[in-house]
Amino acid sequence: MLGSVNLRDTAEESAFRAEARAWIGTNLPAALQGDGGEGEWGQLSSGHDRDKEALAEWRRRLQTRGWVAPAWPRQLGGAQLPVMQQFILKEELARARAPRFGGVGIGWVAPTLMQYGAGWMKERFIENILSGAERWCQGFSEPGAGSDLASVQTRAARDGDDYVVNGQKIWTSGAHIADWMILLARTDPAAPKHKGLSYFLLDMKTPGISLSPLINMVGNPGFNQVFFEDVRVPARNMVGDENRGWYVAAHTLDNERSLVDLCVEYRAILMELIAWAQHAQPAGLTAEARHAIVEMLIQVEVTRALSLRVVSMQASGKTPNYEASIVKLFASELEQRMATAAFHLGGLFAQLTGRGQDRWAPLMGRLGRFQLHSVAATIGGGTSEVQRNIVATRGLGMPRG
Ligand SMILES: Cc1cc2nc3c(=O)[nH]c(=O)nc-3n(C[C@H](O)[C@H](O)[C@H](O)COP(=O)(O)OP(=O)(O)OC[C@H]3O[C@@H](n4cnc5c(N)ncnc54)[C@H](O)[C@@H]3O)c2cc1C
Repeated sequence: MLGSVNLRDTAEESAFRAEARAWIGTNLPAALQGDGGEGEWGQLSSGHDRDKEALAEWRRRLQTRGWVAPAWPRQLGGAQLPVMQQFILKEELARARAPRFGGVGIGWVAPTLMQYGAGWMKERFIENILSGAERWCQGFSEPGAGSDLASVQTRAARDGDDYVVNGQKIWTSGAHIADWMILLARTDPAAPKHKGLSYFLLDMKTPGISLSPLINMVGNPGFNQVFFEDVRVPARNMVGDENRGWYVAAHTLDNERSLVDLCVEYRAILMELIAWAQHAQPAGLTAEARHAIVEMLIQVEVTRALSLRVVSMQASGKTPNYEASIVKLFASELEQRMATAAFHLGGLFAQLTGRGQDRWAPLMGRLGRFQLHSVAATIGGGTSEVQRNIVATRGLGMPRG
């Protein structure tokens, strides 16, 4: 017989939730109210410099509390919050539609450096990641290596104290604004493909790097092609051992796929959508609209329950694997279902993507941008097919096809 699971906050968690809510209410700068949680990334990648000062001030205030990276150790600038409290904080930030700061640096690079980085790397990079003084991008995918990442062909050949890098990356989000890249490159072409890769920290100002922007459907130069021509990277910038980069990259990807914040984000979007639909249909929502909203609400709650499983594993020191893939799979496909439902609710105006300047765009154009962004959700961070393979083989123990 299955036991029941209590998903309610404990007394301590409930006190923390109240504290976080009150603090956000007092400290979120007025200029950022209703920002939509797009934060630094949305501002930078879209080229909008609206509220940059307010954003910097918000970051400073969060950092003073250790709440930019709340679960990190205090000596690294975090607040050492238990994983569950970190989750609650994210829920409260999303509830207030407050910008959050994360991305490649905080989400993936710093945890990888904490696990595999040399002492000097932690000292040199982690503080700047936390403050946002330096930004990072992820140079993994190539034209012939996406789902099959171990097929990376970019070559790093040892030459004295350096490695010389030649090759190409693609879909590199934020490379045009990044100071540093985590780079996966082949150091032993003769070895089996998983065993000839190494993981480097590459200064994006190094001579020989060139970029070609790829404009996404939203109209943002979100990602790029990156070309390397005789780019010299010091050997000391290798993370972990030579030819063992695959295992370091796997750690980065585990962090990338632990997308437990998504349910938080979706709930906030849904609440906003409900408020907007009520405003747009003052005579009362149609039965069809009510049905669509309830269906989305149920699925957001399912995502939350799946995420809590991941959070509780993390809280007990386990590394989620196929469990994180289940969240990624369900949540990314839900994003597309939500975008379609929002589109039906919003009608033709929901296609408009203009920010505050377009008075016809519902929710400052967020519905339109959400719709366009959602297409990539089932591709970035590993496609739905790849997640299904992981769930089938590692979760259900099925044989490889
Ligand atoms: C918004 C966005 C941002 C991104 N940002 C970055 C970034 O910053 N850095 C970075 O390195 N990469 C980034 N990527 C790249 C991303 O990781 C890859 O697009 C993704 O891993 C898929 O690889 P691919 O595009 O080469 O497709 P492919 O691997 O060529 O896949 C093509 C199709 O074949 C299917 N397929 C492939 N293998 C299998 C299999 N074994 N079983 C069943 N079906 C399979 C796939 O599901 C897909 O439908 C980003 C992608 C997106 C969409």
